[in-house]
Parts: sequence; structure tokens; C-alpha cells
Amino acid sequence: MSRTKIKDLLNATEFGKRVTVKGWVRTFRNNQFIAINDGSTLNNIQAVVDFTTTDEALLKRLTTGAAVSVTGELIESLGKGQRVEIKVNELEILGDSDAEKYPLQPKKHSLEFLREIAHLRFRTNTFNAVFKIRHALAFAIHKFFNDKGFVYMHTPIITGSDAEGAGEMFRVTTIDFDNVPRNDDGSVNYKEDFFGKSTNLTVSGQLEGELAAMAFGEVYTFGPTFRAENSNTTRHLAEFWMIEPEMAFYDIHDNMDLAEELLKYVIAYALENCSDELEFLKNRLLEEEKQKAQNERSELDLISKLNFCLENNFERITYTEAINILKSSKPNQKKQFKYLIDDWGADLQSEHERFLVEKHFKKPVILTNYPAAIKSFYMRRNEGDAEGKETVRAMDILFPGIGEIVGGSQREERLDVLQNRMEDLHIPVEEMDWYLDTRRFGSAPHSGFGLGFERLVLFVTGMTNIRDVIPFPRTPKNAEF
Ligand code: ATP
Ligand code: MN
Repeated sequence: MSRTKIKDLLNATEFGKRVTVKGWVRTFRNNQFIAINDGSTLNNIQAVVDFTTTDEALLKRLTTGAAVSVTGELIESLGKGQRVEIKVNELEILGDSDAEKYPLQPKKHSLEFLREIAHLRFRTNTFNAVFKIRHALAFAIHKFFNDKGFVYMHTPIITGSDAEGAGEMFRVTTIDFDNVPRNDDGSVNYKEDFFGKSTNLTVSGQLEGELAAMAFGEVYTFGPTFRAENSNTTRHLAEFWMIEPEMAFYDIHDNMDLAEELLKYVIAYALENCSDELEFLKNRLLEEEKQKAQNERSELDLISKLNFCLENNFERITYTEAINILKSSKPNQKKQFKYLIDDWGADLQSEHERFLVEKHFKKPVILTNYPAAIKSFYMRRNEGDAEGKETVRAMDILFPGIGEIVGGSQREERLDVLQNRMEDLHIPVEEMDWYLDTRRFGSAPHSGFGLGFERLVLFVTGMTNIRDVIPFPRTPKNAEF
């Protein structure tokens, strides 16, 4: 017996057919109306049982969360709110759900509560919508790159290099903590460890991506990355997914163009393919905003915000221009920023990024040409910096409500400049010899960036906490499920 998915039945125009639906009970009303959801769509199908001919004990088992199989006739619905319904002939309970104990009752639950029962939250409309969109975005990313001829490269999760410099790393080891092998000087002897050296979980696939780009031309990674940064924010996870394209013969401008095109492509893909889900989340947000004061509400609803993003060019400005704007900005003058902007060279905090994007430009912004001192060693040094200021061809994309969504740069392709920079920063050049080989043999200008997948999902879904856009979030002191 095959089942039909609810999504297909709700669109059906042929009535009188015998169909089977399998799913979970959302509600059971008036001893006759079962709202069933099978995950194929946000919408439920209504199945109507004849309680006069159905065993009463069976009806009692139609509780929220129970798994059921119903077979019956698909008919046009007379009731309000649905076009079709099923007139049930056969009803089978596949799995009971004790109404007294099932935590998800048909009422509004807070996101905080749902986070504690993340193993069950998939069953709510909100998370059905969020994870459908997450899926669609992942698919769109692969499609975008595949259509352009980029090669999907699987860079290692366990890495032997600790010089990626993007954040604190998680150590990977099989050393017995109760019996640690030691060198004569008391330090840990990693030669005894699984890999014969100290290893970590990757914070970025970029360096390996560069190696592949120097052969394939255009590659990308899309995989999990790990950062042991102790930042308990709504924008940081200890385990998150990152998309990292790396392209030979691209300069910083080509790099920006690609990133903007990618972001617009995947947002358009979601608008086109997830309209029900976006509509649901839009209304959810509007509902939530009713709790807020008028002046704190968003100017645009979720779908308008996404369309706005497609229809406008991202603002491209240099770090120096950004500093000038920030210096003379109201919150800086009135000392409302936590970190005041006094001088060129300051690292931008999220309050500054958000001011530029949300208050000043009111649209996505790409910041370029940052001070070398606050950026990574592999970024391309600019020639002829004004007033002796040393800048690199970095580019960060800042999004409203999110802050940094993309971090990238043109890479330093000149061996001597790169080596000097690494020595200045005490990066072990010998250990990174494999990386430097790309600059020794057929080096070429190249660029790349990292797009944080969960930050993208946050933006598209309008959710506000990154813990709500990944199925099982890993954050400091939390690795449940
Ligand atoms: P931030 O300043 O926000 O911590 P970053 O400068 O450390 O970001 P990069 O090292 O450039 O970020 O990483 C590339 C992208 O990965 C970022 O633009 C962001 O979208 C995402 N990202 C970085 N750290 C995290 C994290 N802890 N959780 C989720 N996404 C992250
Ligand atoms: Mn960071």
C-alpha cells in the first residue's frame, strides 16, 4: 500500500479517489476531525472519522503527536479553511502519544522552551519552515556553484595545522588523560598521540581550498567548521557550517561580485521555492512584533526585506570611509557606542557594523581595504597605501540584523611578502611549507571568502537566534542530543 503525501493531496483536483495518508496527529476535534501533518508541507490535511461506527477506544488514542495511517476517500471539503479532506474508512494508530506526557501541545510554545526539546521541535510549524528553508538554501548553494563549473572540494575536518588563525580550536586526541605521555621537559608528547602530532578540528577549509584552486581554477567547500570561542551570542556557534569558494585569477572586485551574486541567487531561490514557509515566518514575525513599541518594529516585513536585498546593489565602501562615517556619527559623538571610534586602525565591533548597515546605509554593505594589523596573514597587501597606512584587500559583507555574514579577501600571492608577514606574526613557516608551495610553483592572483551558513539561514528566515536555525546547536556548555 503506497501512501500519498499531504502536499500532493492538498493540490489535488480529482475527487472520489481512495487514498492513504500517514502522518502525525496535530489536533483531534469534536470526536471527528483529525488534523494530520506528514512534514511534506506546513499545512495539515483534515481527515473526518465517523464516530458512530468507530471503536471508542480507538478514537481515544487520537491524541496530539500520535502517528496514524488513514485510508479513505478524498472529497471536496465543505468546511472553512480547507479545500479537500479525507472521509476515513480505515484508521490505524501506528504509534501512540500519551497526551499527559507529550510536551508539544497545540498552543504557542516559546522558542526557548522548544530549544530545550530540540529533539521534538521539528514537529512544529516554525521549525518545519526553518529547516525546509535551510535545506533549500543548501541545495541552491550547490546549484549555484555547480552551474558555474566550480568543483566541490571536501577539505579535512581534522587538521594538523594550527595556523589557520581564525579562532580558538578544539583539540582532537586519543591520549588517555589519566596517563598522559610526556617529554623529558614535562610537556605532552604528541608523538604518542593518534596522528603522531597535535591535531584539531578545522576552523576553516580555506588553506586547503587554495591548494585546489591552484589546479581546478574555481572550487568551493561546504562543510562543518568548529570554533572554541567562548562567545555566547545569538550569532556564534561552536559548530557551524561554512561555504568557502576559492578562485584562481579573481581579484578583490571579482570576489565581491561573486559573493553578491551568490547571496542574491540563494535568496531568490528561497523566495521562489519556499513561498509557503516564508509567508508563515513573515506572519509569525509580524505577530511577534506586535509586542514591540512602534519605533522598534521592522520597517519591512520578511518577504519585502528579502526582495529589497535582491533589488539593490550592496553598498561598497572602504574601511577608511567607514571609520569617517562612524567617527562623525551621532552614537559616537554622543558616546553611545560601547567602543568609541577615535582613530584609524580600530577593529569594528558589531555595534559599528550594525550602525553602518541598519542606520546609515539601510542595506547590505561590503567593507574593503582593512588595516593589515587587524586581518589575517594571508590577505593581499595593498601597494601604495595612503599616508603610510598598511591595508589589505579584505572584504567583509555586513547584513542588516546579522552583522558580518561573509568574510573574505584577495590572497597574498607573492612568496616573499607572504613569508615576511608570517615571520612577523610568528606563524611556523616550516609547518606551513605545503601552503607556501602554491606560491613557489605557478603562483597566481586568487581570492576567496567564507559565508557562514547559519547566518544566511538567520537572515532568510528572520529568526533572531542562531540556535534556532541549526537542528542541534553546539554552544559553550551545551552539546545536548
Ligand atoms: P565574527 O567577527 O562575527 O566572529 P569572524 O570574523 O570570526 O566573524 P570569519 O573567520 O571571517 O568570521 O568566518 C567567515 C564567516 O563565518 C563569517 O562571516 C560568519 O558568517 C561565519 N562565522 C564565523 N564565526 C562563526 C560562529 N562562531 N558561528 C557561526 N558563524 C560564524
Ligand atoms: Mn569570530
